[in-house]
Amino acid sequence: MRTAPLDPTPGADAPALAAPPGALPVQETLRRLEQEFARVLASGPDAAGDAEAAAGPVYVTRPFLPPLEEFEPLLRQIWQTRILTNGGPFHQELEARLSGHLGVPQVALFNNATTALIMALRALDLTGEVITTPYSFVATSHALLWSGLTPVFVDIDPVTLNLDPARIEAAITPRTSAILPVHCYGQPCDVDAIAEIADRHGLKVIYDAAHAFGVRHRGASVLNHGDLSVLSFHATKVFNTFEGGAIVCADPAMKDRIDKLKNFGFDDETSVIGVGLNGKMSELNAALGLVQLRHIDTVLARRQAIDATYRHGLRDIPGIRCLDRAGEGTANYAYFPILVGPDYPIGREALYDALKRDGIHPRRYFHPLISDHPMYRTLPSARREDLPVAAMAADRVLCLPIYPDLDPATVARIVRRIAQP
Ligand SMILES: *Cc1c(COP(=O)(O)O)cnc(C)c1O
Repeated sequence: MRTAPLDPTPGADAPALAAPPGALPVQETLRRLEQEFARVLASGPDAAGDAEAAAGPVYVTRPFLPPLEEFEPLLRQIWQTRILTNGGPFHQELEARLSGHLGVPQVALFNNATTALIMALRALDLTGEVITTPYSFVATSHALLWSGLTPVFVDIDPVTLNLDPARIEAAITPRTSAILPVHCYGQPCDVDAIAEIADRHGLKVIYDAAHAFGVRHRGASVLNHGDLSVLSFHATKVFNTFEGGAIVCADPAMKDRIDKLKNFGFDDETSVIGVGLNGKMSELNAALGLVQLRHIDTVLARRQAIDATYRHGLRDIPGIRCLDRAGEGTANYAYFPILVGPDYPIGREALYDALKRDGIHPRRYFHPLISDHPMYRTLPSARREDLPVAAMAADRVLCLPIYPDLDPATVARIVRRIAQP
């Protein structure tokens, strides 16, 4: 089990961080899971498993929750202290714990990632145009519109489906102030190329890292790249606090500024430093995050086993491409996207419908493109002809169900259905 390199002062020995009772070492969990998944995949159609799986719909994700008994003592503490929000003890402890667990210098918690993105743009005083990807969840660009900034869409790389650095420079104008890339599906962006372009043109870089909790790149957190990175702890993400998010930054002065902005901009009782808003995470969410963090290694191991099973089961199906895992790092298996190509017997929509008829509900993330939505499509950079790779991905992608307690029989059933549509 990984231990936090930092040992933060507040509550370092608090019961919140004890190992979950009865937990297996992660390597052992992973080994057992892999054996179990391999056995089910090899055994072919399994009437019992199919019947069980068919009993209820299978969605693309299902939030992980720790045992309620582990949360109760923290709840009781909140009831005793009546500290509900405004940077209370659980909030402070979760910031310290996350900074240690992720290996990042500063973490500022938020009530969600959308607010955090808007405050990140505000913290850097951006103006004018911001270069971004059309292949993301709509909140990435919504944060720009809320901030009075103009999104400039640039096409993505066909291998990673992340913003293509080779196309960024052509989109830079005198009005450009920043680049807002997304580590899509948790795949690291080409952080070196993006940093080099940003430095050469004096641009800021904010990563929408909503998918990238725990992702490491060349031995360190991918969140250490760029000026700021924004995480989401929404229920559908790898690490959830029901709702939640965070900004990761290098410098304590920047964290201080962000902390003020997320509290209406208050500097002290009477002075306000900027147009802040209310982005604070409550003690309830922070306490839950502390308990969730005890289980994150097991959660990731289970996701890894499902990812490996899909890759193995889908490897020889003509026309189905699994996205490559980025080579130099640790993935978080947040999503399992496949691209349904022209040599697959039926189209993406037909496969989507066939799976849904079987009670399997994959998602077409990200279709439509952000640039196809009404508030963006009239922008000069939103023309589909200029975004051919993103348009191709949006037309072909299906994100298959992946979550910690997805059972092997269901994974095998999904693989068989894709093999025989
Ligand atoms: C989920 C998500 C967001 C928004 O996160 P919230 O915490 O729900 O506000 C932003 N960007 C991307 C890429 C996301 O997937």
